[in-house]
Amino acid sequence: MSAGSNAAWQARKEAAIARGQGNIAPVYIDRARNAEMWDVEGKRYIDFGTGIAVCSTGHMHPRVTEAVKSQLERFSHTCVMVTPYDSAVMLAEKLNGLAPGDARKKSIFVTTGAEAVENSVKIARAHTGRRGVIAFGGGFHGRTLLAMGLTGKIAPYKNRFGPFPAEIYHAPFPIEYHGVSTADALAGLHRLFAEDIAPADVAAIVVEPVQGEGGFYPAPDEFLLALRGLCDEHGIVLVVDEIQTGFARTGRMFCSEYSGVEPDLMSVAKGVAGGYPLAAVVGKAEIMDAPLPGGLGGTYAGSPVACAAALAVIDVIHDEGLVERAARIGKLFGERLHGLQERFPEFIGDVRAERGAMLAMELVRDADPDQPDPQRTAALVTEAYRRGVVLLSCGSRGNVIRFLPALTIPEGVAAEGLDIIEGCIENVAAR
Ligand code: PMP
Repeated sequence: MSAGSNAAWQARKEAAIARGQGNIAPVYIDRARNAEMWDVEGKRYIDFGTGIAVCSTGHMHPRVTEAVKSQLERFSHTCVMVTPYDSAVMLAEKLNGLAPGDARKKSIFVTTGAEAVENSVKIARAHTGRRGVIAFGGGFHGRTLLAMGLTGKIAPYKNRFGPFPAEIYHAPFPIEYHGVSTADALAGLHRLFAEDIAPADVAAIVVEPVQGEGGFYPAPDEFLLALRGLCDEHGIVLVVDEIQTGFARTGRMFCSEYSGVEPDLMSVAKGVAGGYPLAAVVGKAEIMDAPLPGGLGGTYAGSPVACAAALAVIDVIHDEGLVERAARIGKLFGERLHGLQERFPEFIGDVRAERGAMLAMELVRDADPDQPDPQRTAALVTEAYRRGVVLLSCGSRGNVIRFLPALTIPEGVAAEGLDIIEGCIENVAAR
């Protein structure tokens, strides 16, 4: 076990790492296996966050770890843009085959989600020769300059970081719970086309199939279908950001499969490589080939270690039936969350449990969607850590608790964690 207490490490962290890179809990992890982690003080946690939707095959899945170890016996880095390697080619072939729809696909690799989103926009612009990009209010696409520009939330992501890249426009995202229907959202988009940018000048529409950081709001199928129709009508590239929703998380390999929409380009990261830094853009071959050789990539793009991990992750998803298991885990969590909502209807305003193992509850006062309760949301997260469950919040109003368990979580561990959460809610709801 590594030495030192959580409090001592947190004090050193605050002295050494700038506050902008905040941490949710002063918990320093020593060891993690599947759906459990242990901190430097030996305390056990049930992990309902998976490092923000990354370790979907559980921490240290033996097959992923084995693949990484055997890659490390061969080489750690050559740069895929200098002297490539077989695993990158095999992984691209796999991603091209897995991506929704029949069109022929190609891929490129980068390292982080933000980079994948930025590269989607670059590719769409190179393909269309157009400048405009439309994203949605409440959306999150990363912290680099262009991705931040696309992100539809000011604090803490955008304040004091301007000026932002030009030619980015935000349209409303449909959230029935907050009174924005699909028709309202589409009317907002048409208003944008009439007032701010002609559709003929739009290179890309970038959308999350479930808004992640924004609060776990699934895009209605009819909304994604309408975006597909508008993109087809106006020659706009539809970019679906599957960074948080991809790789079995939602009970489908990719969340856009629920709507039957084939994205033109898809940004992926997080769950693709089980904890090793890898991201990709996967899309229709004729669009993907628009940029010139050398126009896309990066020194660490498609690290051989991460590619080896990703190939193993995809095999594990397949061999262990994790798409189906995500749906089953989602049902198990969903039943418990709906039961909690019945017990605490004033506090738990909404439960979102229709997208596999990507669930949330929105916490309010007096059952009123317009009275968000970020204080008791934060208190619930803190109480969960105190009782040994890693829990994440999200949401534009800071009042959503999200559940992102490993898709390999044993049902007994999931039930134990949910019992703990129930106790935390009893405690916090009474405050
Ligand atoms: N897009 C979505 C939908 C995300 O959820 C995230 C990360 N939370 C990103 C982009 C950015 O990914 P990264 O942090 O790897 O840059």
